Amino acid sequence: MSHHKVIIVGTGPAGYTAALYASRANLAPLVFEGAQPGGQLTITTEVENFPGFRQGIAGPALMDEMREQVIRFGTTLKPETVLQADLQGRPFKLTTDKGEYTADAVIIATGASAMWLGIGKDEQLSRSGGGVSACATCDGFFFRGKEIAVVGGGDTAVEEATFLTKFATRVHLIHRRDKLRASKAMQERALKNEKIQPLWNKVVLDVLTSTLETPMGEKVEKIRALKLKDTVDGSESELAVEGLFVAIGHRPNTSLFAGQLPMDETGYLQVEKGSSRTSIPGVFACGDVQDHVYRQAITAAGSGCMAAIDAERWLAEQGLAD
Ligand code: NDP
Repeated sequence: MSHHKVIIVGTGPAGYTAALYASRANLAPLVFEGAQPGGQLTITTEVENFPGFRQGIAGPALMDEMREQVIRFGTTLKPETVLQADLQGRPFKLTTDKGEYTADAVIIATGASAMWLGIGKDEQLSRSGGGVSACATCDGFFFRGKEIAVVGGGDTAVEEATFLTKFATRVHLIHRRDKLRASKAMQERALKNEKIQPLWNKVVLDVLTSTLETPMGEKVEKIRALKLKDTVDGSESELAVEGLFVAIGHRPNTSLFAGQLPMDETGYLQVEKGSSRTSIPGVFACGDVQDHVYRQAITAAGSGCMAAIDAERWLAEQGLAD
């Protein structure tokens, strides 16, 4: 079992910024990259609101820059996912898919994951390659020349719908209200796009499928239509589409810490106001895992910086910094 002063869990903007500050403070942090190295920005297109990139930068490119930067200052990255965390004893113990590790301080930067509609079928088809996805950048290419739908009314839905017009013949933007939540600039760009067809006041009741046979003789279930319900008059209808992108928000990745750290009613970790300190001294949280309000790359990065500074100060107070 290898021991480290600081272990950071997660590699979004929060985890990388925490690693940057911790490594520059000579704490030689160990970082577990997790199931989605680079985090949510690796599945987004252009990032136009991260300061310092006046022309914008592709999400994956931004995360590559952060990765190289932390390596330069002595961070060790491991392509492992933490499966178990024991934060009750000292030192803290983390079990990954490859081994066991101990740490004097732990920084949690596990972020958040895409939410599904709660009808079962959407998530199931996303896993089986049935034409449902929560990531336009990853899967948009497969829908070239097809008619598809995006569900949601926030920035993600509008951004994905706009991006998907590069491939699809038509993108139906299904929203449960008659007003988008997305920022004005993004809304305007999307609603001006002739390939985007907004469908107001509609929810998806079901994903209808047909079974196709591949050239190899394998049977696969593929989406053929959506069953929709009008939220105003209750009427039901069918919309023929060959693809569905679900963009209705995210859930914090906190199941590892259930029963050990306080969370709010939606599962976000709670930290002491104005800091990254959790209820366990030596355990810090940063980024989307503790922030359901701002959820921006820049705020995640800022809170990652706070977590590293809080961890450094705490370790020094305990006489564990050197
Ligand atoms: P949001 O929480 O902002 O929006 C979620 C959308 O999905 C809302 O329109 C909501 O409807 C709808 N929704 C939620 N649950 C359901 C459901 N069960 N069925 C149908 N619709 C549902 O999430 P986003 O992922 O869009 O954005 C998260 C954050 O990331 C935001 O702060 C956003 O600004 C930011 N972001 C910024 C980007 C950029 O600047 N380039 C790109 C993408 C995201 P309702 O409106 O009725 O609540």
